[in-house]
Amino acid sequence: MPRLFFVGGNWKCNGSREANRGFIEELNRAELPTDKVEVVIAPMSLHVESVVRSIRPEISIAVQNVFINKGAFTGELSPSAVKDFGLDWAIIGHSERRQIFGESDEFVGKKVEACLRASLKVIACIGETESERKANKTEEVIFRQLSAIKKELTRVQDWHHIVLAYEPVWAIGTGLTATPDQAQQVHETIRRWLASNVNSDVADTIRIIYGGSVKASNARDLASKKDIDGFLVGGASLVAAEFIEIARSHL
Ligand code: PEP
Repeated sequence: MPRLFFVGGNWKCNGSREANRGFIEELNRAELPTDKVEVVIAPMSLHVESVVRSIRPEISIAVQNVFINKGAFTGELSPSAVKDFGLDWAIIGHSERRQIFGESDEFVGKKVEACLRASLKVIACIGETESERKANKTEEVIFRQLSAIKKELTRVQDWHHIVLAYEPVWAIGTGLTATPDQAQQVHETIRRWLASNVNSDVADTIRIIYGGSVKASNARDLASKKDIDGFLVGGASLVAAEFIEIARSHL
């Protein structure tokens, strides 16, 4: 079965009610056939409710992070509350969470598991830093991050609720993009790891998307690679026309 192209817009800590309204008006008018592309937008938590109310129903909304539980954890979101609110997706393990907020591979694995337990689907981010790439440690880092997720998953079918986002840290928000060949090589490596460590069905069907300075001008070339099943877009997801072009890049 072909893998449905997947494009996520990660608005990070950006947006205002007015800017979001303008963006959504444009997005709601765009031609985005649901049999060809799945689109998910991740606004700041504070804006989720107003975005959900105004966005067309075939576009899903994600939160950008959750905690592993509910209770006395001031400032956090619980996976069960996110589900209860009616959302289906969470971004977990974004490099900004790992680097700025010190989230370890193990903690990211636990968060992925907590989301799946609450019936949330997960965009799980993995990727190496610039120094790790320079030291030829890309595979080692990615395998370590994948293993930490696998350790927490008890059922093989859990992987069917995950989209893996390969996001080399050196390419996030820097204007540097992995070349289509560089990205393809890592995506293929991830699929090989899944075939050996999970099973071949998961390896064939899971969406592996690329993130790191994706723009309308480079999306088409990246999307042409056989193991690149879509994108997680940061900066360029804040401009509706550009994001729509990226979402349509494989059509
Ligand atoms: C991201 O934040 O996931 C991302 C890929 O950012 P950018 O597109 O700005 O590099």
